[in-house]
Amino acid sequence: MEKAQLVFVLAPAMGHLVSAVEVARLLLNRHDLLSITVLVLNHSSVNSGVRNYVESQRASSSTISNSLRFIDLPKDEHESFSFSSLAERQKPHVKEAVLKITQSESSIDSPQLAGFVIDMFYTPMIDVANEFGVPSYIFFTSSAASLGFMLYVQKIHDEEKFDPAEFKDSDSELPVPSLVNPLPARVMPSPMLSKKQLPPLLENARRYGEAKGIIVNTFLELESHAIESFKIPPIYPVGPILDVRSDGRSNHQEIMQWLDDQPLSSVVFLCFGSMGSFGEDQVKEIACALEHSGYRFLWSLRRPPPPGLLVSPSDYEDPQEVLPKGFLDRTTKIGRVMGWAPQVAVLAHPAIGGFVSHCGWNSVLESIWFGVPIATWPMYAEQQFNAFEMVIELGLAVEIKMDYRNDSGIIVNCDEIERGIKCLMEHDSEKRKKVKEMSERSRMALMDSGSSHFYLGNLITDVMDNLG
Ligand code: UDP
Repeated sequence: MEKAQLVFVLAPAMGHLVSAVEVARLLLNRHDLLSITVLVLNHSSVNSGVRNYVESQRASSSTISNSLRFIDLPKDEHESFSFSSLAERQKPHVKEAVLKITQSESSIDSPQLAGFVIDMFYTPMIDVANEFGVPSYIFFTSSAASLGFMLYVQKIHDEEKFDPAEFKDSDSELPVPSLVNPLPARVMPSPMLSKKQLPPLLENARRYGEAKGIIVNTFLELESHAIESFKIPPIYPVGPILDVRSDGRSNHQEIMQWLDDQPLSSVVFLCFGSMGSFGEDQVKEIACALEHSGYRFLWSLRRPPPPGLLVSPSDYEDPQEVLPKGFLDRTTKIGRVMGWAPQVAVLAHPAIGGFVSHCGWNSVLESIWFGVPIATWPMYAEQQFNAFEMVIELGLAVEIKMDYRNDSGIIVNCDEIERGIKCLMEHDSEKRKKVKEMSERSRMALMDSGSSHFYLGNLITDVMDNLG
């Protein structure tokens, strides 16, 4: 049998990169004759988290085998860092890198290029794959339902001039084929409401049809309706793909030891993703809710970036500057406040009983994997849609908010948050049972006879069929 090679073209954003690299590892584990080259688009604003991650993966992959390698692309210094413009500008670099690989590996037993796997926002790279005469597969990092929603919006936009922004505050509902329930327009993903961000989203959706397949980080048992709603191209639900190997414990000993001392399922964990942060007024309402509810808590609290700057929140040196006076002293027996949290290690801990989450798709999958129910508090990206899917469509979460947007200026008050936390932490609730069941199914999906294992096998067969 011939050796095959895939080129992964990935986004320099943790929420996209980590799951894509995990897919690469899964593919390599399944097929000895496959090798993968990962190209991560590079921009001057790429943060140290991404750089460190790539370095650590490069180091660990080179010690294990040479079937997975990472190649650096030249850094893009352009001031704009939109996904789509970066992809357009980096096309020549990707082409050059792939040319080098194919030229240096032209002997008879070298792996033959079998396709590109492209981040969901980088469809311009399909042109590069076409130049090499190989098919493209899209890697979609969010839910199958939201993929269906993107395709639906693109269709009604192109056919009926539908403009999502016009429906932003309306009570309209949309009949989305990938959902069982009608979608309230007020939970449409935030980027779809932006005049600047909508066109590249639509352009990506238009091009998904050119792919030979779409790999989605989900699993059949979670999103059967959505997955079965697609006609073409083929969908490969191979998830949940999580980086559960990362050891958060070693860098956060004090917090993890504190968790060790807490009773089973007694702690509510609050964490709002890589870009989530609140202003001081909102922080005080959350603090009030935690104190009133009386539940044990672990709160990842981060400082918002300066207005207008598209950078990640940072950690407070002293969170007391935004917390109510005396809060940390009064809650010292029941709670801890920290900056960036080792979320996977925390969710895996038996002391955690509930998760107040911004509903980024990776966080949703991690909560399901560890069987921890969510109370939804979406902030940005497609999180409002995810919150709706979790609360209404799948019945796996309780609601604090489904339509909150971090740029809305709205303050969610103490009572509303407290109500959500109490509902979340209820012990023998139906939701908790359902989440535990889904957790088991998520693990089964990846096992040898599981659905995701089956789809990954199909994907490999499809890739190997590409060899001439
Ligand atoms: N994460 C973490 N600590 C934090 C915040 C986030 O480890 O304090 C991780 C989280 O476990 C998840 C990823 O960062 O794997 C966030 O991805 P998600 O899709 O949930 O949200 P995004 O950050 O892309 O909005």
